[in-house]
Amino acid sequence: MHDWLTHRVTATPEDLALIDTDTDTRWSFSGLDAAVDETAGRLAALGIETGDHVGMLMSTQLLSVCLVHAAQRLGLRLVPFNDRLTATELAGQIEHSDLSVLVCGADTEQLAVEAAGSTPVASVDDPQWAEVQSFRSVEPEPVEPVDWEFDDPQLMVFTSGSTGDPKAVVLTMGNMLASATASGFRLGVDPDDRWLLTLALYHVGGLAPVLRSTLYGTAVVLRSGFDPGTVADDIERYDISVVSLVPTMLSEMLERRGTLSDSLRAVLLGGAPAPESLIERCRNYSIPVFPTYGMTETASQIATARPQQAFDRDGTVGRPLLWTELTLVDDDGQPVESGQRGEIVVSGPTVTAGYYGDVDANVDAFCEHGLRTGDVGYTDEQGYLYVLNRLDDRIISGGENIDPGEIVELLRSHPEVDEAAVVGIPDETWGERVAALVVPKRETLSEESVETFCRERLAGYKLPRLIAVTNALPRTASGTIKRPAVRDQLSALAEADGDDS
Ligand code: ATP
Ligand code: MG
Repeated sequence: MHDWLTHRVTATPEDLALIDTDTDTRWSFSGLDAAVDETAGRLAALGIETGDHVGMLMSTQLLSVCLVHAAQRLGLRLVPFNDRLTATELAGQIEHSDLSVLVCGADTEQLAVEAAGSTPVASVDDPQWAEVQSFRSVEPEPVEPVDWEFDDPQLMVFTSGSTGDPKAVVLTMGNMLASATASGFRLGVDPDDRWLLTLALYHVGGLAPVLRSTLYGTAVVLRSGFDPGTVADDIERYDISVVSLVPTMLSEMLERRGTLSDSLRAVLLGGAPAPESLIERCRNYSIPVFPTYGMTETASQIATARPQQAFDRDGTVGRPLLWTELTLVDDDGQPVESGQRGEIVVSGPTVTAGYYGDVDANVDAFCEHGLRTGDVGYTDEQGYLYVLNRLDDRIISGGENIDPGEIVELLRSHPEVDEAAVVGIPDETWGERVAALVVPKRETLSEESVETFCRERLAGYKLPRLIAVTNALPRTASGTIKRPAVRDQLSALAEADGDDS
């Protein structure tokens, strides 16, 4: 197999491959192919060879997309970096990645130079810094697409670092191919699809659509940075049919625009749990939402629900994609029955071969049933998956393991509660006790009513001992709840309560 664009360009050369919203230009597959050839030729002229690791520190733009395809054409291992990290954070990741070159753009050049250490830096724009090699000043060499084997590493993508330092996940050609195929079977592929890129290319959720589009013969529409109004307008203006979003993005867009253009046939929603009210809103406004559970280690999606499935089953992320198998295991690593909570273990062709240069992480991550996700959930009788919380977020109170997700799920079933976060706060007698922060659907909600609701439905040791109502949960930029902030807020309240009494 060659790079996917090489195959695509012989099949549908004139079809639309890409729209660059910055310049409002359109590229056919043959036009994109020529631009990718030039990028690959420049990399070759810089002395980059098959198997080399190439870093990318660039915003989403035509040239970063070209670099993604050029790396595939030359058989390079592409390592995209997060341009929102500090130079110090980046330096560690760059050093770990054994790069032959770090490619940047004008906007990321300074950061690249500060973080690169002894790694050579090349810029696709005209360099401002003397130590940066100019991409434009090298004459492209003619290149031939290399042959890929399924097991050849194609990408190295860093995890988000929610539970520790980000880890470098190696993804092979086989992983990406299985993911693209299985995802296509779940979402469907329409030759006229236009996929709006809202997630950055350093996330697997941003890279996947770029690669998949050449396999599917569909178009990607580039938009760098996220602004809810602009993205909602893009969907309308560019006749977008597919978009991937994290729940906070979708909430903000709906807040701003009320509803979204009916050109959409799939809104892939993942990365964090979706609030019930958001799914409800999608139902009311006929927004085709596909709640999704995925991770870097599985080249993105693990399970995805179709809209009707999501509307019929509160909180599900659907069934696993084709070829992906789930096993839910207890603390001893033994499979549990459906309906029982356990750690989600995943196996199948999308699962990474491992973390780069991290023996300890690899030993911890794999068990006899596959890759340990570090997430706790359960499946129902029909095989639909529900994700509750991360293993790390477990509360241990009086020696009992409590999954906060189970309590969040219950709180969210309260008719007046929209969202909730549940954490353990220090307790002298029990080690930890359960505390909850709840966001009401409408104006007033009394803590007492929530307390009564819980008491009627939860075992004593799981009962939130402190409940506080708030307007919004503290979240990171990518939409995950900032648990330490929730814990601080609730601990402070507990202390104040203690002082009062
Ligand atoms: P790190 O592995 O470095 O701690 P991370 O796990 O946040 O960071 P990613 O690979 O970007 O890095 O995120 C995958 C994780 O996101 C999953 O393991 C899960 O915890 C969470 N997640 C993704 N989709 C969902 C979802 N639909 N519901 C709940 N959690 C989700
Ligand atoms: Mg993770």
